[in-house]
This record gives sequence, C-alpha cells and structure tokens, in this order.
Amino acid sequence: MSESISQVFNNLTIYGRNLSMRIKEILSQSPQGQNVTVQGWVRTKRDTKTVCFLEVYDGSCFRTLQVIVDKANAEDLQKELDRCTTGASVEVEGQIVPSPGTNQKVELSVSTLKVIGEAPPETYPLQKKRHSFEFLREIAHLRPRTNTFGAVTRVRNTLAYAIHRYFQQNGFFYIHTPIITGSDAEGAGAMFQVTTLPLENVPMVNGKVDYREDFFGKKTNLTVSGQLEAEVYATALGKVYTFGPTFRAENSNTTRHLAEFWMIEPEVAFCDIHGNMDLAESFLKFILSAVLEESSEDMAFFEERIQPGLLSGLQQVIDTPFHRITYTEAIERLEKSGESFEFPVKWGMDLQSEHEKFLTEKIFKGPVIVTGYPKEIKAFYMKLNEDGRTVRAMDVLVPRLGEIIGGSEREDRYEVLLGRIREMGLNEQDYWWYLDLRKYGSVPHSGFGLGFERLVQYVTGMGNIRDVIPFPRTVKNAEF
Ligand code: ATP
Ligand code: MN
Repeated sequence: MSESISQVFNNLTIYGRNLSMRIKEILSQSPQGQNVTVQGWVRTKRDTKTVCFLEVYDGSCFRTLQVIVDKANAEDLQKELDRCTTGASVEVEGQIVPSPGTNQKVELSVSTLKVIGEAPPETYPLQKKRHSFEFLREIAHLRPRTNTFGAVTRVRNTLAYAIHRYFQQNGFFYIHTPIITGSDAEGAGAMFQVTTLPLENVPMVNGKVDYREDFFGKKTNLTVSGQLEAEVYATALGKVYTFGPTFRAENSNTTRHLAEFWMIEPEVAFCDIHGNMDLAESFLKFILSAVLEESSEDMAFFEERIQPGLLSGLQQVIDTPFHRITYTEAIERLEKSGESFEFPVKWGMDLQSEHEKFLTEKIFKGPVIVTGYPKEIKAFYMKLNEDGRTVRAMDVLVPRLGEIIGGSEREDRYEVLLGRIREMGLNEQDYWWYLDLRKYGSVPHSGFGLGFERLVQYVTGMGNIRDVIPFPRTVKNAEF
C-alpha cells in the first residue's frame, strides 16, 4: 500500500493517541513501546490467576497476536472479559511490549478492551477443537475464520496476483471472455444451459424446443472455456490471457472436479508448440516462486499440517528444467518399465493419472511435458502433425498431481481445420467465426489452460478441491 493510502486508512481509525495496526504489521515491525489499537476476533482465551491471555487474529496473516490483560488493574475490564469468548469480535487498545513467551517477540498489554460482537459459546460452531473439513464445508460462511481456510484464502490471493503479474510483466493483455456462450466451444464437458423459457410450458415447434422464443433467440450455455474467444484476441493483440469462471455440469463426485471453477488461459500469436512449452515452464516457475516467497508463513503451515514434503517438492519443480518427451516415447518408457498398471499401457490410450505419476515420480523424477498425442484423444482445434495421426498437444505433468496444464499449438490451416471439424462430426456452421481466423491473416498460435483450483490444491497440498474455493459448487450442492 502506498504511504498516502495507508495514511488515509489509519486516519479513519485512529483512536485517541493510538495507531490502528493490523497484526501482520505489528508482528513484522515489533513497534515496542507504541500504543496501538487492534481490531479482530478472539481465537482463544486462557486464564491464570493473575493474567488473562487472548489470542486475537484479524486475518492479515497466519499468526495471532497475544493480548495480555493484567487482572490486578482490570476490575473494570472484567465485564468485557466475560463476554470475550472464542469467535467474539474485539477492539483492544494498549502498548506493544516484549513478550516473555517463546512463541512471539512482542505482545499487546491491554489498557482498554471492547467486545464489539459476542459469539455465544453455547451455539458458536467453531470452538477450540479441530473440526473436520467435511464439517467445515457445511458452515462455509464461518470456515474462513479457521487457520486452514485463512491460509488457503491468502495463498489463493497470492497466486492470483502472481498470475496477473507474470502476464502483465510479459506484455499480455487481460481479456474478459463471455460467460454466457452461444457455441458449444470445444465440447470440453457437459454444459449448463442458460434460458428464460418457462420450464413448465416450453414453446415447441415441430416437436422441438422453439429457441427463437428464448432470451437470445438461440440455445445458450455457461462457458466451459474461454479459449476460442481468446484466440480471436490473440490474433489481434498478439499476447492475451483470460482468468475467469468456467462451468461444467460434471456429474462426477471426485476430489478434483467442481461445477464452477476458475481458469487461466494464455494465448499467443506467432508461437509454436516449443514456444508454448517455454511459456508454460517459465509461468509455472514464476508463480511457484512467488507463492513460496510471498506466502511463506501460510506455506509453512501447509507443510507442517497438511502435506509433509510440500515445500521441497515445489522447490524442485522451480529448480529442475522440465523434461520434454513425445507421447510415443512416454508410452514406450511406460511399457518398458515392467510396472503393472490398473489401465494397461497401449499406444492410442489416454494417459491416466497413475501413468502421469509414474512418469514424473519414478522415471523422470521431476516435471515432464508430453507432446504429440494421438489426434483421437484430443480436441479438434489442435494442430495436426506431419504424420497425420498425432497432434501438437502439450500436457505439463508434475509429481504428486499429474497433469497441471493442458495446451496445444492450434490448427492454423483453414482446410485442415475444416476437415477436422467435419471428421469429428461437429457442425461447421457453429464455427464460422473461428474458421474466419484461419481465412484472414492466419498465424501459428498456441496456448494452454490451467485450472486455478487445481493449482491451489497442488500448491497447498489440500486433498479436496472443495476446500480451496470459497463456496464450492458441486452436484447437489449450492447452499451458500
Ligand atoms: P479432467 O480430465 O481432470 O476432467 P479435463 O481434461 O476435462 O480435466 P480440460 O478440459 O483440459 O480438463 O480443462 C483445463 C483445466 O481445467 C484442467 O487441466 C484442469 O486443471 C481444470 N479442470 C477441468 N475440469 C475441472 C473441474 N471440473 N473442476 C476444476 N478444474 C477443472
Ligand atoms: Mn474433465
């Protein structure tokens, strides 16, 4: 925050001679002797005969501030202390003093304590004990107040900011692609339909729904990807990216699928598959370095409590050049390994996550980029190789997770693309504008997609994707 802006914030909340400070600033600056005001929530309260310890957090950082109330001169504070239970919001005023404890350098010695909002212990669901993630999902409106979800939220923020920073520093333009779409895009997944037609009395014509009556005069859906529209802008502005919500009516109850998730999709003109691989590698290394550096305290928590080995694993991805192999080579290596897989290895199959993990963890011991997949298992828009049977697809695989990024060089030849659209049984009329990009000033271009929540899951080690987005939308679940 710039000096002048932070000054404005402080002026709004200066109480008497005290400076309002966020806990993050207090713990990093240790302003001993300074009188400050802190606003936050009580995590725990602990009494001894002579003093009362409050652990107060304000969300600015992982750590709490130890607040000490000296009972000897606190008779007038006793009424407030009684109301001061776990979850209550408070405003505390006092002096920052050295802490005799080993957990923190400084603590706040209270002169004034005000409870702003009580949290009655009989009903407040978040008590001292550790709650299961399943239980916390049912109280998604309160779970951000826990250690874990506070940390997830801050890491998510750091990652989002780093992603924008990477692209902005490298000359990419942020494009806001539509959320309601009239095209079935890439058929990437089942779609949610968007309609204002009366569902109890749908207008019909010749036994079919009459979409001329619908809001847009045609059938529309929520987008599954912004890629096709990003290509439009890449072939005009050169380097672009999207970072927006996408929707898939996936009826799969897995720990890796949401019905609503955020996706990052860079798209670059005059860039072939090799440039695309360079971009993916440099991008991933940048954002992982950023999160290790800027969210080190939260990341230390994930290492300790969620996923041991997390930090060294991420550091290894940053430090190692990514191996680059073709799909055909990958199949050969897997076949030769002698390992027996649940899904037997055969040229033409899609790589399953057991294969991806074996490649990254056992064979290459690091990140791997696989290119040249059989055209049958990839999307119609990927550029056909000279062999006529593989396409310039590119999957970035990392240890522990498998695929983290999927991308390709796009088919830039009009005739070949049209042929692929027909071959896959797609309706070429739906792609008239997409085909136009190959008719007028066509260029080699490439891009990839990264699921934001998958990234947050990978970076934090959180087991379930429902726990890395504020309000998860999954099958039969949209309470909040
Ligand atoms: P998967 O095989 O895991 O379902 P996909 O092949 O459908 O993934 P793409 O269509 O390539 O995935 O989408 C690009 C990226 O979006 C994926 O690599 C993944 O990170 C993310 N993604 C895809 N589906 C979901 C989902 N339902 N929830 C969250 N993220 C998703
Ligand atoms: Mn899928």
